[in-house]
Amino acid sequence: TPLVEKHEYQAEVNRLMDLIVHSLYSNKEVFLRELVSNASDALDKLRYLSVTDPELLKDGPELDIRIQTDKDNGIVTITDSGIGMTKQELVDSLGTIASSGTAKFLKALKESQEAGMDSNLIGQFGVGFYSAFLVSDKVVVSTKSPKSDKQYVWEGEADSGSYTVREEKDPEKLIPRGTRLTLYLKRDDKGFAHPERIQKLVKNYSQFVSFPIYTWQEKGFTKEVEVDEDPAEAKKEGDAETKTETKKKTKTVVEKYWDWELTNETQPIWLRNPREVSTEEYNDFYKKTFNEYLEPLASSHFTTEGEVEFRSILFVPATKKEDITDRKTKNIRLYVKRVFISDDFDGELFPRYLSFVKGVVDSNDLPLNVSREILQESRIVRIMRKRLVRKAFDMILGISCSENRDDYERFWENYGKFLKLGVMEDKENHKRLAPLLRFFSSQSNDELISLDEYVENMKPEQKDIYYIAADSLSSAKNAPFLERLTEEEYEVLLLVDPMDEVAIQNLSSYKDKKFVDISKEDLDLGDKNEEREKEIKQEFSQTCDWIKNRLGDKVARVDISNRLRSSPCVLVAAKFGWSANMERLMRAQSM
Ligand code: ADP
Ligand code: MG
Repeated sequence: TPLVEKHEYQAEVNRLMDLIVHSLYSNKEVFLRELVSNASDALDKLRYLSVTDPELLKDGPELDIRIQTDKDNGIVTITDSGIGMTKQELVDSLGTIASSGTAKFLKALKESQEAGMDSNLIGQFGVGFYSAFLVSDKVVVSTKSPKSDKQYVWEGEADSGSYTVREEKDPEKLIPRGTRLTLYLKRDDKGFAHPERIQKLVKNYSQFVSFPIYTWQEKGFTKEVEVDEDPAEAKKEGDAETKTETKKKTKTVVEKYWDWELTNETQPIWLRNPREVSTEEYNDFYKKTFNEYLEPLASSHFTTEGEVEFRSILFVPATKKEDITDRKTKNIRLYVKRVFISDDFDGELFPRYLSFVKGVVDSNDLPLNVSREILQESRIVRIMRKRLVRKAFDMILGISCSENRDDYERFWENYGKFLKLGVMEDKENHKRLAPLLRFFSSQSNDELISLDEYVENMKPEQKDIYYIAADSLSSAKNAPFLERLTEEEYEVLLLVDPMDEVAIQNLSSYKDKKFVDISKEDLDLGDKNEEREKEIKQEFSQTCDWIKNRLGDKVARVDISNRLRSSPCVLVAAKFGWSANMERLMRAQSM
């Protein structure tokens, strides 16, 4: 095999590299966030694996990140003592698109280009390792996995379309374990090689990395040194002719030297006392941990003690989550005794319908080698899940009680369908879910109302909650069923989202008030005049028979109704049959 192997990038990487190298994106400093987060991931992986395999730490127990700058030559090196990469891992990871974040970026980019928008997507999504090329002409990655006895070097240049891999032969460049990235900065970006600049960026971007980050800084201390006194000075002062030896004098000088300086705070924010953490810090933590650019709508930081002990910070994002079935969301980062375990266990800690909630959970009661199977069987996890779900509801309720109505509107727009799904899937939490639901109503001028608002607005003699389901707001409003109720000033919920009606039927009642579909046949407004109805029925019985004969099997029955005002007739569903809306839904689903 040749000493230096040349590899081509995967086509998507080429596209991405092209974009990055030529981007006019001004916020180039995000490269540091991406590279430090990779280093931190590599340390997390090593720490996790070493719990069951302590041998992995044989080349040194320290888990840290060190960043050195050479401002004269415009070079930045970032070294971590993490898991490193074998040769195969190197080729698999840096040359193809490994990260789902980057894939998401490319998808968003395509969409934004189709929409003719030029947005700052690089900063929003992060493009992982390749963001090194935002500021570098050349990047060298030298890496040593504890699984391999050799160290390998990946080398790539902007605009070249290929990269090389070779074994590290220079003994000066060998590292015991981990990865060293060397960035040769572009001419215009050499400013990043200033030690103070890097220090500031680390403070800004890596405040929540749980491993120590050291930067190479120039230091100084003052010291007193004895110096020979100037002979001219001495002459003025005393009798020069009688004194032969030179006088000594002390002077303060600054001694300069270079050393590593700890630059971040490593105490995880969730271990701190909630009273001492500001909203700003929570928001900052959220944005940096989950790569979000909008501040969360709400957050909740809590500790539980007693039977099961854990700490957690949960967030409700402000960004919309499109796909309700997408479970690979990496929304919950699970730690055991501060060791990061996985961000792949959301499904065990939260029901599917709360998969939009993000956060960290740190438990002292789970084993460090916890797996999905263990989680699924664990009684501790069942208790944790219950508490987490309860806290998530409190947090959402908090948004709905906020003085700022817009917040909940935004929440509802983003996640309303998730809560409706919750009503269908989680009977146990109906009491918590129902007050959070919102519906259009016949009296609210296109504003959404809550069930509490409906109940408050009920007429004194009204027993039930009325609703009608339709495929649009205008067809709901124009439904003939509504005529009499509107005339008599009953409020009616207008269920226009396909999931509304299913959710309502699952609830079946709210605060002891039944939900009643006004399009079903036995609507009882409590004002029946039986005598009069009997008379009318008799009078028109022949007409009804005649119509039924004409329509044949198309209808089940023809009846006299007391619920219409201006429309001559209306089609209603049987009490125990499907509503017209449900039939529409089922037809749509079977297609
Ligand atoms: P992501 O971090 O989202 O997976 P990146 O583009 O940032 O995507 O990194 C790609 C992959 O390269 C990582 O998943 C990891 O396997 C590998 N990698 C990057 N940096 C390091 C590092 N410092 N140590 C070990 N592996 C790394
Ligand atoms: Mg990354």
